[in-house]
Amino acid sequence: MALMAVFLISCNQGNKQEEKTQPVSHVMTKEEQIRLTPDEVLQQFIDGNKRFRRGITTVRDHSEQVRKSAPGQFPKAVILSCLDSRVPVEDVFDQGLGDVFVGRVAGNFVNEDQLGSMEFACKLAGAKLVLVMGHQHCGAIKGAIDDVKLGNITAMLAKIKPAVKMSQDFQGKKISKNDEYVKYVAENNVKYAIQQIREKSPILKEMEDKGEIKIVGVFYNLTDGTLEFLK
Ligand SMILES: [Zn+2]
Repeated sequence: MALMAVFLISCNQGNKQEEKTQPVSHVMTKEEQIRLTPDEVLQQFIDGNKRFRRGITTVRDHSEQVRKSAPGQFPKAVILSCLDSRVPVEDVFDQGLGDVFVGRVAGNFVNEDQLGSMEFACKLAGAKLVLVMGHQHCGAIKGAIDDVKLGNITAMLAKIKPAVKMSQDFQGKKISKNDEYVKYVAENNVKYAIQQIREKSPILKEMEDKGEIKIVGVFYNLTDGTLEFLK
């Protein structure tokens, strides 16, 4: 009897869920991508992040979206993020299948491959926004601060070292146990990546100068899911 009651309750909850939410099956079209401005994409990300933090992310019909998106993709942005498992990029902005290109590497630094990927995303595939995202409590940033040497990690952390150098003006203890300092280096690391994008990609620089794309840096707080846009 008790089991039956539990079963009925769970069925009712299931029905309520179905009534409440209509899964989104739409995927970005070329026309929609062309119409979007870089500022509108940024606003969509800000709004999506608010939904993410409130726990009301969009319910999506993935199987339908897979089918609809297969013939072509028209994403609105390219995001460079850290490898960190606590930063689920699409979820953080409540974006779905076909919405964003995501490049991930520990410490979200720029290299030739990431630049090529960004150029593909914007110049060839029509993305309007380049977003470089660093985050709180980043292990790669801490590793660069601690000058960790281990296998291929050594060469990888060397790409983050410029940000550590940029952070010498920090007032306070410059150690990886100081969260404020780690944040300061992570923010400088994002700024350095953006500087590198502009210097090493004439294609993206020109698109930015013409207003065809925006290149924006952001810091993601693990503790509450909030975003801090960097100037
Ligand atoms: Zn990280």
